[in-house]
Amino acid sequence: MSNICKLCPAECGADRTSQRGACGADNTVRIAKYGLHPFEEPCISFKNGSGTVFFGGCALRCAFCQNFEISRAAVGTPYTPEKLAELFARLEDMGADNINLVTASHYVPQLLKAFSVYRPKIPVVYNTHSYEKLEALQALDPYIDVYLPDLKYFSPKISQRYTGKSDYFAYASRAVGFMARRECVFDGGKMVQGCIVRHLVLPLCTDDSLQIVRWFAALHSPAYFSLMGQYTPCGDIAKFPELQRRITPREYRKVRDFLLECGIERAFVQDAASADGKFIPDFSPDSQTLF
Ligand code: SF4
Repeated sequence: MSNICKLCPAECGADRTSQRGACGADNTVRIAKYGLHPFEEPCISFKNGSGTVFFGGCALRCAFCQNFEISRAAVGTPYTPEKLAELFARLEDMGADNINLVTASHYVPQLLKAFSVYRPKIPVVYNTHSYEKLEALQALDPYIDVYLPDLKYFSPKISQRYTGKSDYFAYASRAVGFMARRECVFDGGKMVQGCIVRHLVLPLCTDDSLQIVRWFAALHSPAYFSLMGQYTPCGDIAKFPELQRRITPREYRKVRDFLLECGIERAFVQDAASADGKFIPDFSPDSQTLF
């Protein structure tokens, strides 16, 4: 069997048994941080917090990544699938309301092994940039209860500018279309099954945001839409002058008003004033747990 990795749309072809791919990962799962996260949507963080696991590395690599320290290289503690399964159980013991896998798409085979060792009793949330191949998502689907996909860019020009990938929307729209078909089920206010499609409004990109909203409205899916306004300048943005500021309340309102005009009632919207770096977890190496 070939060791050449073509797991994600980047298809970089790395032999992950001996080298790292364009996502920064080799065959060993690395976890940069885990813990109970209080700042997801209320139905995800719920009462005790979302049992969040931040994986090192990323296949999409947005210039302004809010988790830049861990996404550029697969940093973190190495985990075997067995150890990952133990972590799922530990988060359950900590009282987590769910297991929230953040940017794990470059570790799908290892996740499948972990789930074969231990299947969590609480909902499993798959939190992704959506630059995914459908085959990988379909393989994971039986183990996922709630999808939290980002839908970041509509325009190939914009995705090329910020990630070097002009085919983002081509892949992400298929991936989100798949994830968004799931019916939403709540238990006392906690989402136990379903999908929330997230979109972060970027400075000077509101027209792209409107295209995303229009596309989502036409999908007529049961999914919720979460419009995020907390863009904070960080990451590798020196050559992008437009990314050096937060979005304005006017930019956020423009997209939010369009969302309402499109009749999207299943929506989470934020106060535009929430553009604050305090919601970005600290990935400094002093501790592996969150908060
Ligand atoms: S998952 Fe990583 S190694 Fe595999 S094709 Fe994508 S970028 Fe390359």
